Amino acid sequence: MAVRPICITGEPVLHSPAAEVEVIDDDVRALVADMFDTMEAAPGVGLAAPQIGVDARIFVYDWTDDDAVRWRGVAINPELLVSPPPVEEADEELDSEGCLSVPGERFPLVRSARSVLRAIDLEGEPYEIDAVGWLARIFQHENDHLDGVLYVDRLEHPHRKAAQKAIRKQSWGSPGRSWMPGVDNLEG
Ligand code: ZN
Repeated sequence: MAVRPICITGEPVLHSPAAEVEVIDDDVRALVADMFDTMEAAPGVGLAAPQIGVDARIFVYDWTDDDAVRWRGVAINPELLVSPPPVEEADEELDSEGCLSVPGERFPLVRSARSVLRAIDLEGEPYEIDAVGWLARIFQHENDHLDGVLYVDRLEHPHRKAAQKAIRKQSWGSPGRSWMPGVDNLEG
């Protein structure tokens, strides 16, 4: 098990749809173990395989809700059912989201309040989670990664412009940028 470098926006693997996982073998199990290590080291509440440069439809999550319930797992070949997001302005305080591939930045984005995750786990067993609130948001964020979409791609005016500016300022947005959790002093 190992912490792996996290790709920063501009790396092509982050911007194209990831491939279905055909078989859950030792390689996939080792990858998932590294994804948990990397997410923990970052630290983050979710991490998708493309963020560590792997073209595979897998994400991991680890988040404790307000009732002290810990939601920790791996979603392989997930499907996400999402109701349309509410039509409202993004709230800086309630809707601000971050991403380990746009480290250190946060911008508000309106998301659906509920999402239903259907995926398979490392044993190949299908499962379903009917998520609300922040967990529903995490699933939407991570599932987007598997379609090559970053949350900054979804931002509305004026946050979209602010994100583009921040990305330019860091000289991100082109291939070859990454950061190492525990080594580089960044967070997202
Ligand atoms: Zn992300």
